[in-house]
Amino acid sequence: MLNFSVGPVQMDEKIRKQGFEQIPYFRTAEFSNIMLENEKLFCEFLNSPENSRTLFITGSGTSSMEACVMNFFTAKDKVLVVNGGSFGGRLVELCKIFEIPYEEIKLDYGQVLTNEILKNYENKGCTAMLLQHHETSTGILYDLNMVGDFCKKNNLFLCVDCISSFLANEIDMQKNNINAVISGSQKAVALPPGLSFITIDEKAINRIKENQVKSLYFNLKNYLKDGERGQTPFTPAVSVLLQLNIRLKAIKEAGGAGSEVAKVKEISEYFRNGIKDLPLENFSKSPANAVTALTLKSGKSAYNVFLKLKDNYDIFVCPNGGELAEKIFRVGHIGYITHDDVDALLKALHELNAQGEL
Ligand SMILES: *Cc1c(COP(=O)(O)O)cnc(C)c1O
Repeated sequence: MLNFSVGPVQMDEKIRKQGFEQIPYFRTAEFSNIMLENEKLFCEFLNSPENSRTLFITGSGTSSMEACVMNFFTAKDKVLVVNGGSFGGRLVELCKIFEIPYEEIKLDYGQVLTNEILKNYENKGCTAMLLQHHETSTGILYDLNMVGDFCKKNNLFLCVDCISSFLANEIDMQKNNINAVISGSQKAVALPPGLSFITIDEKAINRIKENQVKSLYFNLKNYLKDGERGQTPFTPAVSVLLQLNIRLKAIKEAGGAGSEVAKVKEISEYFRNGIKDLPLENFSKSPANAVTALTLKSGKSAYNVFLKLKDNYDIFVCPNGGELAEKIFRVGHIGYITHDDVDALLKALHELNAQGEL
């Protein structure tokens, strides 16, 4: 089996070995030290400002998106939300559920977010901005330099869903004026699903402390407090946190987040070069490193390509849902993917083309 989906992704052997081990009791100094080291490495990889923290939530990426909306914003805010696909739509939905006033920037699938678009929202009384870095449903990467400058100029609190871009594209909290970064375990972090991470600066910490949240599990005040001693309020996904420690230390040893980003970029370019002679088109004008979203120039079904690869080759790529189901399939470049793996996928795609499926 080869897995080029966008998560869960293929995992390194060392990570899989750790998953096989018995799970230790975790209210110990030893486990706390591992957690504190995990937190330090997250903050380092995101170049977060001094006194930043990382909170470890046992729950998929969406749970951290929900926790952020609940804990950062109140009815006094007006949040500028970018909605360019199914994950952007989820941010809008969360603002609705928690009755947070918002202004929606609705983009077409794959549309680039530009300064011209942002300018229309300058004097609308917004206090914060919420968006994806990489809208994984279409493979588009939004420009965080531009967004960060816009937020600085307009004094907006900036929270970015980097679930599919952390370790796949550069993210620099200080350079881009980001107050909160959300990431998750099963994308480029390449671990089993079940964990998500919220890295926050002092402004975000203050928002958490000042807000009254109607939730037990998602009250981030408790995660802040227990995290000071390397613990979590409730039983975390202990085994995934141990795997995380192995993974983060290996990245650090290899040169840090930049070296991991370079790896993903290289493998994505290798794939994109390999399909140049196929009747496929990159759907995104500004593609992220983690994913290539492809349409068939022939107009044939993209979902059929997903099925053929799965059934005839035991290869997973990612189909799309909803309106884009027949139009786009996505190839992930994150996780433990070798050049041989990519060669096998390219061979299969060329065969499907010869059979008239593309
Ligand atoms: C995968 C993903 C999510 C959702 O993560 P879950 O772990 O499935 O909850 C949210 N945002 C982005 C950008 C993603 O790629």
